[in-house]
Formats: sequence, C-alpha cells, structure tokens
Amino acid sequence: MSNCHIHREAIDAVKNFSLPQELPFGKTIAPVMVKVHYNKGEWSKSELLPYSPLTLDPTCKVLHYAQEIFEGMKAYRVEGQGPLLFRPEENLQRFNMSARRMAMPEVPEEIFMGAVEAIVGACAPIIPRRSGESLYIRPFMFASENGLGIKPAEHFIFLVVASPSGAYFSGGSVQVQIEREAIRACPDGVGFAKTGGNYAASLLSMIEAKKQGYDQVLWLDALHKRDVEELSGMNFFAVYNNRLVTPKLTSTILNGITRKSLIQLARHQGFQVDEETISIDQIIADIQSGKITEAFACGTAVIITPISHLGEKDGTRYALPQAVGEVSMKLRNALLDLQEGRAQDTFEWVKKVAPLA
Ligand SMILES: *Cc1c(COP(=O)(O)O)cnc(C)c1O
Repeated sequence: MSNCHIHREAIDAVKNFSLPQELPFGKTIAPVMVKVHYNKGEWSKSELLPYSPLTLDPTCKVLHYAQEIFEGMKAYRVEGQGPLLFRPEENLQRFNMSARRMAMPEVPEEIFMGAVEAIVGACAPIIPRRSGESLYIRPFMFASENGLGIKPAEHFIFLVVASPSGAYFSGGSVQVQIEREAIRACPDGVGFAKTGGNYAASLLSMIEAKKQGYDQVLWLDALHKRDVEELSGMNFFAVYNNRLVTPKLTSTILNGITRKSLIQLARHQGFQVDEETISIDQIIADIQSGKITEAFACGTAVIITPISHLGEKDGTRYALPQAVGEVSMKLRNALLDLQEGRAQDTFEWVKKVAPLA
C-alpha cells in the first residue's frame, strides 16, 4: 500500500488482538488507525499506527465550532478472497462534498482509498465471519487548529478507525416517532453533509422518543413540517405493493449510498421506484387505508430495518400492515448477497482488498 506507511507495531497489534465473543455494533474497536495531517495545503504521509488516544489542546477548534465530517462504510469477510468493500468511491465523493460544505480541504483519492485499504488489509484477520457481521469503517476529519478565534481552520487531521461488528439488525423491526416540532436540517443548511452537528441536533428528540417506547425519529421538512425527509441516520422508504417511494433528495436529506443502491437494485428486480415529495399526512392516510404495505429505513449500519409502526408523541400508533415486510427482507437479502460476494456483482459495486501480511 504505497499511499500509506504501515508500521510494524500496527501489524503486531492486530496479531495480538482477539475478537470478543459479543460484538455489539461499533463497540469493539480495532487496535489500529490511519492518521494524516493537513497543514496549509500540504498533506503529511499517511500512516497506519497502533490505535491510541489523541492529544488535543482545549482550544482545538473542532471542540468549539464543530468543523468535523465523517463517513461510515463496511468491509465484509469473504472466504477464499480478500475482504470486500462496498462502493467505497461513493464514500470518497460524499466525504469531499461534506468537506466543501464545511470549509475543509478535500482529501485526495489516493489518501482516502490508501487509508481505507490499509486499515481493511491490516484488519482482515479480525473481521468476524458470520453473515451480516463486518468491519465497520469510520473515516473522519476535524479542525485541529488551536485558538478561540472564529475563522476557518488551516490545520486538520484525517483519521480512519474501524470496528469489528456484529450484525446491527437482530431480525426485528423498529417503531418510529414522527417529529412534528424540532427540525434536523433547514434548506441550504448542512443537512446533506455528513457532519457531527446534524447528529447532535437530533439527540434530544431521540431521548423524548425513547420515553414513548419508540426506537427512532422521523424528520419532516423544516419550512412546513409537512413533508417526510429521513431518520437521524437512515433514509426512509414506503412500500406500496410493487412500488417503492422515497423522499426525493434535497439539501436537507443525506444522500445515502444504501438508498441509492436499493433504488437501482429494486428497479433491477422489477419494482417501480419513485423519488418524490410525500407528506406525512399522505403516508398516514395510506397506512390506514392499507395502500402502504410496509415501510423501512436504510443505511450502511442496518442495511434495511423494517418499520412496524409510525407514531405520534402522544402515543398514537399507525401500524404497518406488515411489521417485517416481504419486500424489505427480499431487498435486504439481495443487497447483503452482493456485499458478501454470494451474488454476481452485476453493478460492479464490490471492491476486493488485499490482506496485509
Ligand atoms: C449516513 C447517513 C445515512 C445513510 O447513508 P448510507 O450511505 O446509506 O450509510 C442517512 N441519513 C443520515 C443523516 C446519515 O448521516
């Protein structure tokens, strides 16, 4: 991996690491990381190092002004070949789109891909092997400059860490509260960027929703509080028998790679897929009349998670006809078959990574 210097200690750290029995999603952290510094237009040599804490000055700008972006991607273990990444160039493009919006430098392709391939290559022996399990990969970048003055930073750190993870999806479904008061993202703000602040903005609603027995929050558009947008970290689909509907992309919706892939995959399988603005009133009416047969949320971590109920803050629930829908499960399995290398890769979505050492 010419674009990333591999430290011997990092390879040793992986050798000395053993996977715990239980692998809750994102809890176990791989013992290595890639680190690159950016300083006034120059990128340092990318390095794969043993995992370790960072030392930050208390006035480090990210801690005050939230100049931070991230990505989430997975590598699957495939017997007899190297780990498989899923559409990593999509993550690179989105990362750099987020970077532009947050006034951060774009990470050159060879640095981003070199870093991801180095960590995946090094972690190949510690990717869990059961179906649905994976190495979750988290590239991120933040303003590392010190000082309380508000100005765009010139120093950044780009890091990649990883987590050997169990399947996020346990076979169940989720209940989703419609958020009719708070908003996640406003037009031409930062909703389309994968930046930590969007998550910070969602947490209070999440806490409230949990008190009512919900698992997730469904966000509406900021201007009218009328049109369905997405969940805090997942995109939304409603299924009308053989037709799928998902909100069309705007500046307030994150362009999910799972969403995009499912649209292509579902069309390939003969479903009609419409990307359109759809009001929450319409969704509720269509659930109640039985036109909507199922609904699901999708994202890299869960792939697809079926939605059993939408509901209000006061506890009113709208039950989907199928709590764990057939279409949802069919699409989920089809996508996982591609990601885990069982299905023919007709879309050329998977990328093999060479194991290191
Ligand atoms: C990451 C994310 C998604 C899902 O995107 P994927 O590329 O499918 O993982 C959806 N919504 C938000 C807000 C996100 O941050």
